[in-house]
Amino acid sequence: MTARFPPPLSPLHPAELLRQYGLRPRRSLGQNFLHDPSALERIVAAAEILPDDTVLEIGPGLGALTRYLARAARRVIAVEIDSSLLPILDSVLSGYTNVTVLCSDILDLSIGQIVDHADYLVVANIPYYLTSALLRHLLEARPQPRRLVLTVQKEVAERLCAGPGDLSLLALSVQVYGSPRLIATLPAGAFYPRPKVDSAIVRIDLRPTPRIPWGHLEAFFTLARAGFGQKRKQLRNALAHHLGLAPAAVEALLHQAGIDPTRRAETLSIEEWGALAERYAAQRAPGRRS
Ligand code: SAM
Repeated sequence: MTARFPPPLSPLHPAELLRQYGLRPRRSLGQNFLHDPSALERIVAAAEILPDDTVLEIGPGLGALTRYLARAARRVIAVEIDSSLLPILDSVLSGYTNVTVLCSDILDLSIGQIVDHADYLVVANIPYYLTSALLRHLLEARPQPRRLVLTVQKEVAERLCAGPGDLSLLALSVQVYGSPRLIATLPAGAFYPRPKVDSAIVRIDLRPTPRIPWGHLEAFFTLARAGFGQKRKQLRNALAHHLGLAPAAVEALLHQAGIDPTRRAETLSIEEWGALAERYAAQRAPGRRS
């Protein structure tokens, strides 16, 4: 028996579609619409969607990616902030009964309330202005997604995948929850209007439990924000400054965690942040014996 593939989707023409509805792309909402079919196929392939999966899409825009997701998944929930795009989405997605479009700012929604399935994926070509806040929102969501496949600025994708020695606060936060992987770069010409920079597809598979135990996460983020708040400074100075602690106390804490106090935040591995967070959490715990 020969395998049957669904017929290719006819490409959407964003400029024409917007003109028909009397609209223009809104730069303030990061509206760069992806129209290149091979890029859309790449994103869907990277997501490895199973027929029974629920997919959450952030910012369906004109529905270009949504159509591909709807063909691969059992259910697609798409959250779009711009209500003026809803008539276009209605028309483009009219044949897909498994898509629900919600009109809202994704950051105002609790993901647990919109995704009825504990096991779901997030696949999206996200507005770049929202990258950090959205990553945080998704990584801390309950239930947490199994995987994120996102189109982001190429430089951000590279930064997310950096190794120890080169870690930023964003990369560190992502790598605590999952394993990011750069899948492919997309040229600016794959979008309308063309963004000023190239983009990349990044896939982040989330771990069932973070690399730093739940109980130490708050201490970890406090320390990491303090360390990266002045990342050119030695850790002992950056932490003392941001945490309001005496430099001698910070030095002792770093020594207990086996970390040279003269190092800088970006040089620490996740394991070292974990050791530091464990000591810091123990020190702050009520009823501890000094
Ligand atoms: N997915 C479409 C595509 O690939 O062509 C559009 C991608 S465009 C880069 C980003 C989309 O996110 C836009 O439709 C924009 O209106 C929407 N958006 C921006 N901020 C949002 C937010 N806070 N919540 C939900 N959607 C948002």
